[in-house]
Amino acid sequence: MLISAERGLTPDGRLEPLWLRIQDGRIAESGTGTPPGPADLHHSHGVLSPGFVDVHCHGGGGADFTQGAEGARTVRSTHLAQGTTTMLASLVSAPQDVLLEQIKELKPLVDSGELAGVHLEGPWLAPGRSGAHDPEVLTNPETAAAEQLLGQGAIRMVTIAPELPGALETISAVSSAGAVAAVGHTDADYRQTQDALAAGATAGTHLFNAMAGLHHREPGPIPALLEAGAWLELIADGVHLHPAVLDMVFTTAPEKTVLVSDAMAASGIGDGDYTLGGLEVRVADGEARLRGPDGAVGAIAGSTLSLSAALRHSVLEAGVPTAQALQAATAHPARMIGLSDTGALSPGNRADLVLLNDQLLVEGVMRAGQWVSDGQGNTDPGL
Ligand SMILES: [Zn+2]
Repeated sequence: MLISAERGLTPDGRLEPLWLRIQDGRIAESGTGTPPGPADLHHSHGVLSPGFVDVHCHGGGGADFTQGAEGARTVRSTHLAQGTTTMLASLVSAPQDVLLEQIKELKPLVDSGELAGVHLEGPWLAPGRSGAHDPEVLTNPETAAAEQLLGQGAIRMVTIAPELPGALETISAVSSAGAVAAVGHTDADYRQTQDALAAGATAGTHLFNAMAGLHHREPGPIPALLEAGAWLELIADGVHLHPAVLDMVFTTAPEKTVLVSDAMAASGIGDGDYTLGGLEVRVADGEARLRGPDGAVGAIAGSTLSLSAALRHSVLEAGVPTAQALQAATAHPARMIGLSDTGALSPGNRADLVLLNDQLLVEGVMRAGQWVSDGQGNTDPGL
C-alpha cells in the first residue's frame, strides 16, 4: 500500500510532502516529495504523523491498568482510537504483593506486544509529594524488592524519589536491568537530583508536578534534569501546567520533551466519580481531583487527556510548533524507553500512523499496517 501526504513528519522532525510504502505491517520504503506511483491514499490536508507513544498512562475508557488484562485492553483500545499505537501501562503505588499480581496480569500483553511494558509509579515516592498516590503504601526503596519486580520481565520504567534512603542503589538496579529510572514525586533538591542522574536516572516524571518548582536560590530538581539532558515528561492539559511553562520547556529543551497523558479511567468517558489506586476521584469539567470522605476535593489525580489532546493543547494553546509537538508525542518517548522500531516514519519501522486534520483531530489510525480506522469512516472491529 502506498500512502502520501502533503505534510508528513520526517524522521528528522520536519513537515514535508511525504510518501510511505507499507508492506507486511512495516514501512518498507519512504521518501519526501512526489511519490513513485499513484497513492492508494493521499492525505491532502492536516498532517501524517507516526503513531503516538504514551509512556505514562494509567487508564481510559472507564478502566485502568490495575484491573487486569481485560481492563488493560479497554484502556489500550480507548487510547488507540485517539492515535496512541504504543503505550506503557502505568501502575500507581501499591504493596509489593499487589504490584507483583498486577504485573503478572499485564505480562501476557507485554509479551504479545499490545503493551510496550509496565511503568511503576511508586511505591518509592516522597510522602510529602504523594499527589494521588495512597500515602499509606509508600515505602523506602530496597534493591531486593526492586529486583523481584524487575525479575517479572515486564517493567520498562520506574519512578523514584531519589532523596529516600536506598534510592540511589535502586536507581542503579533499575537502570542495570535496562529499564528507565525516572525522578518524580520527590522532595529532592538540585544536588540530590544530580546524584540520581549520576546513578543512572534518565528522565523526569511529569516535570513541575509533584516536585519543587524553580527558585533562583533553591534550583531544585528541574535545572538538574535540564542540564543533564534528561527526558522531560509534560502533562499538557492546561491544568497541570500553564501553557507559558509548557512553551518555556519546549523552547529550552526542544529535543527532550515528552508529552504524556498521565490519563486515568475518565479519559475517553468524561465527568463523574472514579477510583485511582483505591482512592476516590471526582472528574468535573475534565479536571480529575482526589475526593476526601467529606466530599472535599484535593490534589490533581491524573488527567483525562489522550495524547492527541495533549498535542492539540501544546500547539493550539501553548503555541508550540506542530513538528516539535509531534516529535514530543512520537520519536522522543520512543527513544526515552529504548524502542527502535516505532516513533518515526522510517523504513523498517512498524507501520504505525496517525492521520490528523487541520485542527489536529485524529481522522485515521494504523497500527502494524492495519487500519484501526482509516479516516473514511471505516473501522476494523477486530482491533
Ligand atoms: Zn504522578
